[in-house]
Amino acid sequence: MMGLFRNILSSLSSLFFPPSCLICEDYLNDELFVCKKCLSSLQLHKNSDPGYIAVFQYNDSIKKLIFELKYNSRPEIGHILGKEAAKHLSEIFQKENSILLPVPLHKKRIKTRGYNQSLYIAKGISEGLTIPIDEELIKRRKDNVSQTKVDNSDRKSNVSGIFKLDSPSLDKDIFIIVVDDLITTQATTKEIYKTLKEHGYNNFFGLCIATSGN
Ligand SMILES: [Zn+2]
Repeated sequence: MMGLFRNILSSLSSLFFPPSCLICEDYLNDELFVCKKCLSSLQLHKNSDPGYIAVFQYNDSIKKLIFELKYNSRPEIGHILGKEAAKHLSEIFQKENSILLPVPLHKKRIKTRGYNQSLYIAKGISEGLTIPIDEELIKRRKDNVSQTKVDNSDRKSNVSGIFKLDSPSLDKDIFIIVVDDLITTQATTKEIYKTLKEHGYNNFFGLCIATSGN
């Protein structure tokens, strides 16, 4: 009964307040959170770092979407961004013998946020590129302080030793694409690379939606 009441309330509210695009604030038709026009006009990032690819330019639109994805309980935005990113990545990654590895969150963080935003991004990319996701390979053993709250000089030590390999039996030749939402200093990405290397995995590459680093 309560569920029915809630559904009626939500239908009424969308009648009087139809959902609008998070970027341009125009009313949405059949889209979710962001209109087709804004999504297709996200600018691509000019990549200069050989260690990873950031797909979109870090600007107000991307900042807004990543904020909503991480802090406003909107995991679907990760899926939307991942699918959009995949359109620009099909020439770059081979499908065979590759996996997508979303940067793991600590279980405590999953509990408070309700989901891992990088997993949702990976889901969108996986759908677009038909590359499978491996959520089990690496686990986060420490719930470190967010990198954004730590001084530049402390970021390396903040992530040191926080990951552990959980299923080391995977084929060592597999190409591992590490998926993150936003890369700032690369300290987290490099710590994952270090953990992979320690277990004999040497084929990997980083991928993120945007970077505020360069
Ligand atoms: Zn829009």
